[in-house]
Amino acid sequence: MKIRPALALSTAALAIGALAGCAPAATTPATTPAASASPSPGASADAEWSYRGSNGPEHWGKFGAACENVDSSHESPIAIDTSTVQMGTAAQKVVTHYAPAAFDIENNGHTIEAIPEDPAADSIEVNGKTYELQQFHLHASSEHTIDGRTAPAELHLVHKAEDGSVLVLGVMLQAGPASTALDEFFSSITTTVSEKGTPLSHEIDPSALIPADGMSVQYDGSLTTPPCTEGVRWNVYLTPVTVSAEELAAFTAVYPDNHRPVQPLHDRTLTEIPSGV
Ligand SMILES: [Zn+2]
Repeated sequence: MKIRPALALSTAALAIGALAGCAPAATTPATTPAASASPSPGASADAEWSYRGSNGPEHWGKFGAACENVDSSHESPIAIDTSTVQMGTAAQKVVTHYAPAAFDIENNGHTIEAIPEDPAADSIEVNGKTYELQQFHLHASSEHTIDGRTAPAELHLVHKAEDGSVLVLGVMLQAGPASTALDEFFSSITTTVSEKGTPLSHEIDPSALIPADGMSVQYDGSLTTPPCTEGVRWNVYLTPVTVSAEELAAFTAVYPDNHRPVQPLHDRTLTEIPSGV
């Protein structure tokens, strides 16, 4: 087995302040970019990153140096080729400590995000370290690809540990039976961009948002939105979760295309976390 490099967190990772996309917390201080103040997606093209045009992913370097992919970059998302993975260990398995909890929903100008009212209410444990759930949000289509396949959408559950390290669970969403857990989330999606979340009336159990079999791939990557900060551990599940076509449409009506293209793997190793490890 290859030795996996330690998850090296730069000071930049500790200063992640972006509200949007894969950034960990809506409550982080000071360095909030203009993202939250954007009146509508794409409306302030000169000042705000976007998924297309002159501020699209190929130009994100002006919003964060790490977004400029160079030979040493460890950026996300990536194309996952399951034929190349190394076998992981039991300690790498994601142990969830999830329970139904209250969430606020917010359209932050780049995605729809659900933010727990108490981050300590839902956490995960990996390699003995506890990460609290900061928020979850969606991308359409999926950001990661699995063996060349793109899913209609991808759910990111962003977690942060006490030391500032970030771990994101990625879940592919495909059309099928509706998600009861996300029913109110999807029906509450609004086109109004706001820094302030709106409380959902029903609690959400994040356990219902991840596939039961636990089969996943782990690797070291980055935020998939500017400033594209590296030092982020990813755990991408291989089995999709279903949402209804109507639920998907409620999201894509507002965000038809908010995914970053796959980035080069470079020297990274993918680790397989099999079911039942
Ligand atoms: Zn994301």
